[in-house]
Amino acid sequence: MPKKFQSVSGMHDIFGLQYEYFEKIREVVKENAKIYGFEGIETPVLENIDVFVRSVGELTDIVEKEMYTFKTKGGDSVALRPEGTASVMRSYIEHGMYTRPQPVKFFYFKPFFRYERPQAGRYRQFWQFGFETIGKGGPLVDAQIITIVYNIFKELGIKGAFVQINSMGDDKCRDEFKAELRKYFRKNTSSLCADCKRRMKKNPLRVLDCKKCIKIKEGAPQIVDYICKNCRDEFKMVLEFLEEVGVPYDLNPFLIRGLDYYTGTVFEFFASQKEEDTPLAVGGGGRYDGLSALLGDEERPATGVAVGVERTALLMKGNGFSFKEEKPPVFIAQLGDLGKKKCIKLFEDLKKAKIPVAEAFGQDSLKSQLSRASKLKSPITIIIGKEEAAENRAIIRDMDSGEQDKIKLEEVLKEVKKRLKKLK
Ligand code: AMP
Repeated sequence: MPKKFQSVSGMHDIFGLQYEYFEKIREVVKENAKIYGFEGIETPVLENIDVFVRSVGELTDIVEKEMYTFKTKGGDSVALRPEGTASVMRSYIEHGMYTRPQPVKFFYFKPFFRYERPQAGRYRQFWQFGFETIGKGGPLVDAQIITIVYNIFKELGIKGAFVQINSMGDDKCRDEFKAELRKYFRKNTSSLCADCKRRMKKNPLRVLDCKKCIKIKEGAPQIVDYICKNCRDEFKMVLEFLEEVGVPYDLNPFLIRGLDYYTGTVFEFFASQKEEDTPLAVGGGGRYDGLSALLGDEERPATGVAVGVERTALLMKGNGFSFKEEKPPVFIAQLGDLGKKKCIKLFEDLKKAKIPVAEAFGQDSLKSQLSRASKLKSPITIIIGKEEAAENRAIIRDMDSGEQDKIKLEEVLKEVKKRLKKLK
C-alpha cells in the first residue's frame, strides 16, 4: 500500500463545523467592515524578508525563530507572512496611497505562518482577520477599532469579551522608560532567560513580552510613570471613548505588544469559552505611527488590530453559538438510469428558478435517499423512479402528511412553486 499522508505538522484542514464557524466570522467581519468603511485588501503570501525584519523587529520571537523563510531561484530572500500589518503598510507605501483621502482603511481575513511549537490552539498556519487605519489617527480611531472587534465578538455570541489596554508612549517617553528598564534588568540579570540577557541590551521592552521571564516583571518600572503629558492625555481620551460606548477594559501596565512597531495605545482582547474558564487571548493591536518610517516612508499615524480566527471559532463553540437551521425546500430522489437523467435536468431547472434543492445523487437506494430527505427536513420530495421516468412523470410527496401525487414532469416546476407559496 502506498504511504498515507498527513497534513504538515502544525497545519490543519478546515472543514465541517469549524468551516461553518469560519464562514460566519468572515460574514460578520465583512458586514462590519462595510458599516465602518473599511475596504478589503489581499496582499501576497510571500514578502521580501526585510518587510518583517524591519517592522516586526529583529529581536522578536517571530523574526528570530518563527518565520518561514527561503531564497527564491532568483536569489531573493522571502518570508511567508507571519502577520498582516507590515504587508498592508508596504502596500500603502508602494502604491502611494497617501495621495488618497486619509485615512485609508483596510480589512483582511487570511492565513498566516509562524514556525511555533504546535500545541492545542497554536498552529503553524493560522487565520486572522484584521482592520488597519492608515494616514490619520488619534484616540477616536483607536477607540473605534477596539469597538468594532468588541461588536464582532458580541454578534458571534461570545459573551464577556473584554480588552486589556495600555499606552507605550511615543519614541521620546519610551526612550526614558527603556533606560530605567535596562537599569532594573541589569540589577537582576541572573533571573533573565538567555534570550532576554541578549535582548535586554538592545531592546529591554522585549523582556516584558517574554513568556519565560514572568517573575522579574513584577518589580519592573511601569511605562505609565514615564509617558509624557500628551501621550497620557491621548490615552485617557481612548479610555473615555470606550466608556462612552460601553466597551469593558482593564488597564494592564505591563502590556507591551511583542512587535517593534507599536507606539501609544496597545490592547489585547480576551474572552472565555465558558464563564468559569480562564480568559483566552484572542487578538490585539494598537497604534503604530512609526511603522511607515521603518519601511522607508515618512511617519504616518496608524492603528490596527488582528484577531485569531481559530480562537474566535473556539469561543463561539464554547459560548454555544447556534446556526440558523436552513432546510432546503425541495429534495430530489432518483432510481434507475432514466430516472437519473430526468433528475439531473430537473435539478438544473429548479436551480435556474432559484429554488434551493438538495439531493443524494451518490446514493442508489431510494430508502437511503428518503432517509436523507427526512434528516434535511425538506418539506417537498420529488421522486423519479424507473416507472415515472418511462411515463415522463414524477412523484411529488408532502413530507409532513406523507401524501403523494404523480404529475407530469413539465408541470413539476409550477407545482413546486405553488406548494412553496402555500408553505410561506
Ligand atoms: P498576534 O499577531 O501574535 O498578536 O496574535 C493575535 C491573535 O492571533 C492571537 O491572540 C491568537 O488568537 C492568534 N494567533 C497568533 N498566533 C497563532 C497561532 N500560532 N495559532 C493560532 N492562532 C494564533
